[in-house]
Amino acid sequence: MTTHTPHVPHAPHAPQAVALPASLDEAVDALAATPTAVPVAGGTDLMAAVNSGRLRPSALVGLGRIAEIRGWQYQDGHALLGAGLTHARMGRPDFAALIPGLAAAARTAGPPQIRNAGTLGGNIASAAPTGDSLPVLAALEATVIVAGPGGARREVPVSHLLAGVEMLRGGELIGYVRVPLLHAPQVFLKATGRTGPGRATASVALVLDPGRRAVRCAVGAVAPMPLRPLEAEQWIAGLIDWDNSRALVPDAVTAFGDYVAAACIPDPAPAADGSVQKLPPAVQHLRRTVAALARRALGRALS
Ligand SMILES: Cc1cc2nc3c(=O)[nH]c(=O)nc-3n(C[C@H](O)[C@H](O)[C@H](O)COP(=O)(O)OP(=O)(O)OC[C@H]3O[C@@H](n4cnc5c(N)ncnc54)[C@H](O)[C@@H]3O)c2cc1C
Repeated sequence: MTTHTPHVPHAPHAPQAVALPASLDEAVDALAATPTAVPVAGGTDLMAAVNSGRLRPSALVGLGRIAEIRGWQYQDGHALLGAGLTHARMGRPDFAALIPGLAAAARTAGPPQIRNAGTLGGNIASAAPTGDSLPVLAALEATVIVAGPGGARREVPVSHLLAGVEMLRGGELIGYVRVPLLHAPQVFLKATGRTGPGRATASVALVLDPGRRAVRCAVGAVAPMPLRPLEAEQWIAGLIDWDNSRALVPDAVTAFGDYVAAACIPDPAPAADGSVQKLPPAVQHLRRTVAALARRALGRALS
């Protein structure tokens, strides 16, 4: 008996057309002209999807030649970051002096060839739980400037995009990311495991906002989107002596780590008969990892 194996083409399906616009508005026009076209920035996520057969775009709109989104500018105490900024660029010292948390995340985002090509806009649009910039943007309460047809611009909190409260509409592009310049310590820490090259199993971003006497924290990779432990943030901010050394007793720092971890990875609800349920060992381990990252992040931010 013979079996017939269907022929599976090995070469990835090549898109029929590639547009290379020179401005954000030209890119939006190119998407409007070919509604099935897919935007591509560094291509690190998109080409992985094409190569594995998960995506077969009929046309591409390349964003790599749009100079206006490859740098940043200052605006009212904020930085307006171009969506085309690469992780490698954000990892450099001049950027780190401005937004240290984002620079720290960019430095850990995959191997060098990925950091050279992968962009901030692509990281947000992909919205992977392991996206390293995402908890930092959540902690910074960053917003995204979305470019649409006819030169339209609208501003959306990054957290709304990631939670699906608001979505990118057809033909829209992420143009810029607006981030407050806080001039205070920011920390990003990430634990990695066997989830792929350098991908986070858990990450914590923590920023101090002395102007508002606030500590803002976001936990990445443990849920589909970064989680903000708001009560833990408010509790610890209330213990910090903002006018003097900002010192805290070690017990408070440890308790903050536990508070953050329990908020992001809560205990299971009791069973119907009232008996206490335990988290599976792997989840308990993840919770301990988050607690350690949050504790260390706060300790470093205050040191
Ligand atoms: C081996 C490997 C390791 C990786 N490791 C990490 C890691 O450790 N940490 C991490 O965070 N990421 C990691 N990544 C994921 C990836 O590199 C990042 O998410 C990167 O930032 C994606 O950016 P890009 O420019 O390559 O996006 P692309 O691949 O060009 O696009 C990704 C998606 O975003 C859309 N898009 C891109 N730009 C825009 C825009 N301006 N407006 C609207 N939509 C847009 C595209 O249509 C596509 O759907 C890894 C990837 C690989 C292949």
